[in-house]
Amino acid sequence: MPIEMIIEEDELKRRQVAALQNAGFYWRERDGVRALVCAPLEQAGFTNAFSTRLGGVSPMPNGSLNLAGFNEDAAENIHENRRRFLKLFDGDWTLTGCWQIHSADVRTVHNQQEAQTKPGVLGDDQYCDALVSNTPKILLAVKTADCVPVLIADPKTGAFAAVHAGWRGTSTSIVMRAIERLETEYGSRHEDLRAAIGPAANNCCYEVGRDVIDRFKELFPQSDHLFTPTRDGHARIDLQTANRDQLIAVGVSPERVHIAPLCTMDRNDLFFSYRREKQLHGRVGRLMSVIGRS
Ligand SMILES: [Zn+2]
Repeated sequence: MPIEMIIEEDELKRRQVAALQNAGFYWRERDGVRALVCAPLEQAGFTNAFSTRLGGVSPMPNGSLNLAGFNEDAAENIHENRRRFLKLFDGDWTLTGCWQIHSADVRTVHNQQEAQTKPGVLGDDQYCDALVSNTPKILLAVKTADCVPVLIADPKTGAFAAVHAGWRGTSTSIVMRAIERLETEYGSRHEDLRAAIGPAANNCCYEVGRDVIDRFKELFPQSDHLFTPTRDGHARIDLQTANRDQLIAVGVSPERVHIAPLCTMDRNDLFFSYRREKQLHGRVGRLMSVIGRS
């Protein structure tokens, strides 16, 4: 490779790391497994990470860190990948999740016992799209491949939430439902909350049709800024901003909402993307976003 190209690549990497830092994120890597961490959430006492596809054993393709989807990958691969992913965090953690259905339903995980499910099952018998808890040593997990993962922390009460918000979940204001649950269950106040919005299909790539555009305009009259028109009847949608808007609408202060400036469709080298890979390979790995506290 010519020396100028190497310099350009280094410069590009340097700029990407700087952009991440400015947004409040950094990379953590251990034994080839890499994840994005939100620094302000971590400084507030919350272990958190958004996984990448790097450092695993799944053939999606080789060496992929697929963390869910038992119908598309061997169970032993997923278990090994989860074991590797959990090594990013010191100490013992109980990983708990749910069977995601693009709903507005929230699951409260009251204690370790409720978090402990059958090995590997991850609470998959629970149908919902957001989880809340305040129990130490539990990692609440949501799975995505283009949808928006949102992690929320309340440093005052020690409560926390993980939210899965695709366009359907965003249209049902799932992030607001999760905050309501934090308030009723743990007495959280919106002004104390801090949130991290993870890598997702962004408005640079994610095109939707008339049905989605009309649904959003009907539900959110002030949503024009979320759409960039493309061809007739289509537009690119900005779901990260849509979720940020909802957090701010319920009273979370804008400077306490951190958005990872990464698109899962653009950075298919780092992330699984349903839209980029489903047609190509027929099956797609799953990323996992987690939050908990010691
Ligand atoms: Zn993009």
